[in-house]
Amino acid sequence: MDSGRRRFLGRYGGVAAAVAASLALPPGTAQADEARPDTGPVLGARPGPHPGTGHERFMWLAVEQARRNPRWPFGAVIVHTRTGEVLGRGVNTGDDSPLLHGEVVAMNDYVRRQGNQGWADTTLYTTGEPCSMCMSAMAWANLRRVVWASSIDEIRRTDIIQIDLTAHQVAASARSFYTPELLLGGVLADHTNHLFREAQRLRERFPDERRRER
Ligand SMILES: [Zn+2]
Repeated sequence: MDSGRRRFLGRYGGVAAAVAASLALPPGTAQADEARPDTGPVLGARPGPHPGTGHERFMWLAVEQARRNPRWPFGAVIVHTRTGEVLGRGVNTGDDSPLLHGEVVAMNDYVRRQGNQGWADTTLYTTGEPCSMCMSAMAWANLRRVVWASSIDEIRRTDIIQIDLTAHQVAASARSFYTPELLLGGVLADHTNHLFREAQRLRERFPDERRRER
C-alpha cells in the first residue's frame, strides 16, 4: 500500500466501513453519514477513484457544476471509479422540469455519452445528499458508489423543502435488489454548506415564486 492510499484510507476508510455496516440498520436508525477524519480502523473499505487525492478532487468538480446555478447549487459528476474519467456531469435545471435535479441531469448526460450501461463501475459525486427521487434512480441504475457533501438536514436549514428520507433510508428500502458499495456524506460539506447559505440569501433577495425546492 503506498503512502497516498494509506492517507486516503486513514481519512475515509473507517467512515466508509461504518456506513456500509449501517446499511443493515432499519430506516430511522442513527447513521454515520458525515465524513470525519481519522475515525477509526480500516475495515476493508475500498479506495476511491484517486487514492491520495481522495474524494475531494471530484467533489470540487461537482461544486464547479453547482456554481452554474447560484440559486439552486446542486451539481453532480459521475466518474469512472478506477480511472477517474468524468463520464457525466450536470447541474439542477428544475426550471425546465421538476425531474431535473443535478444527479438526474448527470445521469442523463452519462447515458448520452456512454449508453445505459457500466453504472456499477462509476461513482457519483453530488453537492447535496440525494433526495429520494435521485437515490431511487441510482438504485434502479445500480450506481453503487455515491458521495455527497451537504446533508439533507443542512439543505433544509437553508429553506429548501425536502422529502424526509435520507439516502441511506432509500438505499436500505431497495436492499432486495440494490447493494451500495459506498454511501458517504460530508465531503467538502463546509464549503457546500456555505454555498447553500449563499444561495438562500440570493433567493431571499430576488424571490422567484415558481420554485420552492430542489
Ligand atoms: Zn434529487
